[in-house]
Amino acid sequence: MQTHTVIIPEPRKVEIRKVELPPLEPRQVLVKVKSCALCTWEQRFYLGASPQSYPFRGGHEVSGEVVEIGREAVPTAQVGDRVALAIMTRCGACESCRRGMDNFCEMDSHGNEPGQPWGPGGLSEYVILEDYQVYKAHSQADLNHLALSEPVACVIRSVSLPPLEGGDAVLVQGAGLMGLIHVLLLKRRGMKVMVTEPDERRRQRAAELGADLAIDPNDLAFGERIASFCEKGKFRAVFFTAGGIPAIRQALSLLDKGAWLCLYGSVHPKGTLEIDPNEIHYNEWVLTGTYSHTKKSFRQAVAMISEGLIDLSPFISERVEFPKVDYAFERAISPDTYRVVVTFP
Ligand SMILES: [Zn+2]
Ligand SMILES: [Zn+2]
Repeated sequence: MQTHTVIIPEPRKVEIRKVELPPLEPRQVLVKVKSCALCTWEQRFYLGASPQSYPFRGGHEVSGEVVEIGREAVPTAQVGDRVALAIMTRCGACESCRRGMDNFCEMDSHGNEPGQPWGPGGLSEYVILEDYQVYKAHSQADLNHLALSEPVACVIRSVSLPPLEGGDAVLVQGAGLMGLIHVLLLKRRGMKVMVTEPDERRRQRAAELGADLAIDPNDLAFGERIASFCEKGKFRAVFFTAGGIPAIRQALSLLDKGAWLCLYGSVHPKGTLEIDPNEIHYNEWVLTGTYSHTKKSFRQAVAMISEGLIDLSPFISERVEFPKVDYAFERAISPDTYRVVVTFP
């Protein structure tokens, strides 16, 4: 069986190639892709800003419908079911996976032979996955929303780390898609949420989605506004999603005793940070990162989206039909979009 798949052979170039799918193995599932969102990872390849190699087969925020199930696959979904695809989740058997840290799985199943396309490859008409990568959703679940299970799963991990209590004041830095999903999930947990974001339209969006206060991190009255927002002007947790080293420095000045600083986002360009260890010692700060998702957080994300418990429609800026992928990438890299999804008939 053949499928069309999208390859980024070099920066600013997108190609559709016809490839032969291998025969289905006993524990595999064949899925017809219905929706694939273009995440910043794919966008970095398109822009030529990724240090990783080309050609790249992108697409890791994916939903679809089950077409065929291998004879020994665990029957969590049936033919015709709508599913979200944890295409980045791997083996389940390595040391990291057995520790419950499958976000650090040691197996790379995306292939990386020199000169050959590598990557998750969800931007295709059909994909073959292992049974444990396929998560069944409601028969009525919105397939475009379902494609965002991966970013939601990553944020579920992030907001689950600090031991927060209802009413705690927390800060989310950055109101891009990741910052806004943090706002949605933290509000659902009863937090008092402040957002810092330099862009006015994005601050507006954060406020619409429930942020209790959204301000410019460079606001001249920053200190006063925070002091009137929460006690001592300090937060129980800060979630860094964007803003680089200056934002992280600001975060360190805003941590309450026993507070958590969660570095959800990466920093580009790279940089270093100076921290007085006594600050960590006397204040019992916890500094941590969160990287990717686990099977556990992915399952929760699919359940919440599938049941309509969180509304992701504000984040789907545009739907573009396959095969108009050149246009889709151009729209995805535009600063006025959150997620552009490529839809398949
Ligand atoms: Zn993603
Ligand atoms: Zn593993």
